[in-house]
Amino acid sequence: MTTFENGSGTRELAGKRALVTGGSRGIGAAVVRQLLDAGAEVLTTARSALSTVPAGATFVEADVRTRAGAEALATTAQKTFGGVDILVHNAGGARPHKGSSAIPDEEWQDALDLNLLAAVRLDSALTPGMRERHSGMVVHISSAAVPTPVAPFLHYTAAKAALENYSRGLALELAPFGIRVNTVSPGRTATPGGEATREQWTQLYAAPDQDDTAVPTVPLGRDGAPDDIANAVLFLLSERASWLTGSSLVVDGGEFHRG
Ligand code: NDP
Repeated sequence: MTTFENGSGTRELAGKRALVTGGSRGIGAAVVRQLLDAGAEVLTTARSALSTVPAGATFVEADVRTRAGAEALATTAQKTFGGVDILVHNAGGARPHKGSSAIPDEEWQDALDLNLLAAVRLDSALTPGMRERHSGMVVHISSAAVPTPVAPFLHYTAAKAALENYSRGLALELAPFGIRVNTVSPGRTATPGGEATREQWTQLYAAPDQDDTAVPTVPLGRDGAPDDIANAVLFLLSERASWLTGSSLVVDGGEFHRG
């Protein structure tokens, strides 16, 4: 079991104000829970409230795919907390299709809006306050699949690749202001969204002659749990990671490192 106490016996993130997108289930809910355990105040969001939103978090409905939704969320965070010290953009995903040419234009736009532009818009609204305070931490959730894109998900991995590239640039821009920006790249993780996506993927590519696009297996022998990914996020938000910025931490049970 992970404890989040610092050396003096206080919880490590006590007094920190955090915004987590997509905290109603899956990886986002695990991040919210671990932040609360570490003593942070947490505001989280999704398009609809679920009973799986961790108790103790403040929940606000928002669709972060749109500029208006992201800006309204940033305004709510400012009003609720007077600013945020920690921003975790976790909401993400995309529907698989049978080949790149089957991905409709609007789903390319959706993939970019949710996986990339929501992060850009929230960062733009909330990092100026961090700059003024000369302190802050941003974590973007990407995907371990970025280096090995496959046909059903080219819109998704392209958006996540852009997110990682943007994150590295933002890290360099904000480092002089005491703000750290990192990404966490999960592999196959057991979440409602992950399971639903892999089910759709399997149905699309059920034919044996398309085995090269089959859902891969995990060398460590099990799917990740949401807490495996949240552990990495909390590490990046801890003092132990105080010299890490612009990095991408791959947490995938070895899935994408087979060589
Ligand atoms: P889930 O689909 O299980 O949960 C996604 C969360 O984001 C939900 O709270 C959902 O709530 C919210 N969300 C989705 N769309 C929006 C939106 N437009 N506006 C606001 N909130 C939204 O996803 P996971 O936990 O599996 O994934 C979390 C992150 O990890 C994503 O970025 C995903 O790409 C990444 N990832 C996951 C992997 C996996 O195997 N699970 C593998 C690699 C990366 P609601 O639908 O009500 O809006």
